Amino acid sequence: MAKKKVIIAGAGLSGLTLGTALAQRDWDVQIFERSLELREVGAGLYTWENGLKVLETIGVFDEASQNVEFITNLDMIDKTYGLMHSTKFTNESRFCVIPRREVHKALVRACERAGVKIETNAETVSADPSGNVQLRDGRTFKADLIIGADGVHSNVRNSLNIGIKEVVGNGAWRALIPRIEEDKTGVAEEHWNAYRRIGIAPSTDQYRYIYLTGMTADEEALSEPFNKDAWLSSFPHLESVLERIDQCRLDKNFYYIYLNSWKKGRVALLGDAAHGMEPNLGQGAGVSITSALELAKQLEWNDIDIALNCWEMLMKPTADKTQIWSRIYGAAAANWPKELLGIRPEIISNAMGSENIDLMLSTAARYVTGLEVAVR
Ligand SMILES: Cc1cc2nc3c(=O)[nH]c(=O)nc-3n(C[C@H](O)[C@H](O)[C@H](O)COP(=O)(O)OP(=O)(O)OC[C@H]3O[C@@H](n4cnc5c(N)ncnc54)[C@H](O)[C@@H]3O)c2cc1C
Repeated sequence: MAKKKVIIAGAGLSGLTLGTALAQRDWDVQIFERSLELREVGAGLYTWENGLKVLETIGVFDEASQNVEFITNLDMIDKTYGLMHSTKFTNESRFCVIPRREVHKALVRACERAGVKIETNAETVSADPSGNVQLRDGRTFKADLIIGADGVHSNVRNSLNIGIKEVVGNGAWRALIPRIEEDKTGVAEEHWNAYRRIGIAPSTDQYRYIYLTGMTADEEALSEPFNKDAWLSSFPHLESVLERIDQCRLDKNFYYIYLNSWKKGRVALLGDAAHGMEPNLGQGAGVSITSALELAKQLEWNDIDIALNCWEMLMKPTADKTQIWSRIYGAAAANWPKELLGIRPEIISNAMGSENIDLMLSTAARYVTGLEVAVR
């Protein structure tokens, strides 16, 4: 019997994960990537139990996570250095920060091993529900299934004329900084002062990951070039960390993507193209690669139409909830009424201490594909 064929637009973390998982299930996989080369940005990737299980399942964990340090505590700290909340991690609920480039490189190699064909400098401009795609250079292709894994600004999604893209007035700088002996081990921190936040986390034995997030309207904080003094004025106690920033990358705005359904005929949207969100919970990629593996499993067990229905039924509630809680977290961080900032630490501390809120915030981390699969 001829192999089933899938065409994937986008060689980001979602597209590469799905490509690997489907090729491992004997699909003929073609990925078209718009960029001239296969690469990721130089930053860290918060990776929780859900994402780690995916990397393990498709066989890229060892390569991606070399010298990565596992984190035992994630602390939220207010401007007076008071601890608002500490989340603890165990061997069953792991958390670490893997350099993005390592995850991406390991996924590209896994694709190669599994026989995935990847073509760069190949932009998808449109797809139609009958399973055809068109590239910018005019070529057209047909497949049993087309996947739009082409990020928040997805051409595939736009060409289907579905979904809503919402721009959020918050953004972030990201960098990997050299690690020094005085750095804490096993502890990640997020420091809050008014509407600015700085997160610092151990990554590998050589690097720490730092992100600096604030409102887009806060020009001093979120305009190029990076203004170290603006951030020092809010976080003077983090001077030793800020001084180590050399190269950093700015995302001036974040985006939410909302879809009633992730599929139309033989086209499905995956990852940020389907459920882009503010990175407040560090779960955008985690949910995306979990969804990719879940889709591959459903396609192994079911006909394509049934598989797409089962996949969406299983994954969409988790993605929807993660978007909602990312938005709530973002509102507490960046939209809190100015006159009530003084009581924010106490309110956050009480809220984060509640078991229900903890459960909601960790919805994505707890969705480990393979354990919750009930539909065949
Ligand atoms: C500041 C910031 C911090 C974040 N931190 C974390 C974190 O710590 N942990 C976490 O889990 N998530 C995090 N995220 C979210 C995470 O980055 C995304 O959810 C994840 O990268 C989505 O992967 P993707 O493959 O769906 O999309 P993308 O990473 O956007 O990849 C899309 C790919 O498609 C290509 N492409 C685009 N258009 C086309 C086209 N028309 N044709 C062909 N190819 C195309 C692009 O070049 C790219 O290679 C963060 C996001 C931001 C902005």
